[in-house]
Amino acid sequence: MKHEPLLKSVLAAATLALLIWGGVPLYRHRHFDLQIVEGPGVSEVLKLGTYSPGIRGTTADTCIFILRGKEPGGKAILLGETHSNEPEGLLAALVFIENAVVDKGTLYVIPFFNNSGSRNTRPGDGYPLYFEVPTDWGAVKFRMGNRDASPLDQWPDPDVYVHYPDRQLLSFIDVRNVNRTWPGRAGGPLMERVTFGAMEIMRREKIDVAVDMHGAETMFPVTNCIVAPEKSVKIATLASLTVKATEGFENHVEPSPPGFRGLSHREIADHSDTLPFLLEAPTPFLDQPTGPKTTKLLMDGKDPFLLSLAGKKKLFVPYDASGWSMERRVGQHCSVVLEILRQFSKKNPDKAIIVRGVPRHAEIVKNGVGHYFANPAKADREKVILN
Ligand SMILES: [Zn+2]
Repeated sequence: MKHEPLLKSVLAAATLALLIWGGVPLYRHRHFDLQIVEGPGVSEVLKLGTYSPGIRGTTADTCIFILRGKEPGGKAILLGETHSNEPEGLLAALVFIENAVVDKGTLYVIPFFNNSGSRNTRPGDGYPLYFEVPTDWGAVKFRMGNRDASPLDQWPDPDVYVHYPDRQLLSFIDVRNVNRTWPGRAGGPLMERVTFGAMEIMRREKIDVAVDMHGAETMFPVTNCIVAPEKSVKIATLASLTVKATEGFENHVEPSPPGFRGLSHREIADHSDTLPFLLEAPTPFLDQPTGPKTTKLLMDGKDPFLLSLAGKKKLFVPYDASGWSMERRVGQHCSVVLEILRQFSKKNPDKAIIVRGVPRHAEIVKNGVGHYFANPAKADREKVILN
């Protein structure tokens, strides 16, 4: 018995060491900022808290890059990382921020829409904390986030999330999912304040087009598509047909179900004059029956289990040994966004949004995504934004 205090001290020290060993990488991940180089089209960078004061000073606040054209015209907003484990949306948003030049109209781009989610992770699923994108000058390191906001920022979860304002009962976890908390409210849970901020941009700035960029499982039926409510369907269909005819990739249109509340394509349509679109690119990393969740799987989308399931016709997209690479997913998002803007502008010449400098699908597949990212070390310090 005389060794008991010694044993307790050793166990306490071992527990503390384990906590530090496990906690320090998570702390570093949460505080790791990406350096974003403002491209030639960026005229202003604001915080979402400008439109939703309830998120100021919290981890949910995030940057809005504004690209104003020389001529007035229509306005569009692009959202990346609504779900931070679907980084194709983030990378496509960054390609716009770093390369787009707007000749007419205005573009608002939010690369980390769920900034708290981008600083969260999923250790139980063996998610990597970071991934890298090779560029012409070295590799850029990105945070790999989670679908939901961090419980460090919004806690506790309710037993059931009662959607505002429809009172539809949703899963408890959806209270931290910014694709269930639309249209949000100024004083609601933190993630409702995030979507409220985006709704305020749309209402106050009179945004014409909103595009929310995602990735989806290959085994999920709503994948490789443009989700559109009734009022956006015509433009979505024209965009889908045009990219197929001119760029050779499939991207079908899915209707936004009117009874499923909280989603961007549903609530933006019902609570503003903006035309919403939600893009889904096939992301093998997200499927359940894959091998380990490695950064290689995230980037190349190659998985032997999915390949075998494709042979049994269990996937909703064509799938072969070439996988479904990040280049294809980001290229698809860039082309579809450009095509939506072009089709909207054709129908509404007085509110045209004319954008140049953004590569399309084939160019991104050929050159890689990183080819379109500037080196922050070589950029003017005032043009480097931390997010
Ligand atoms: Zn998503």
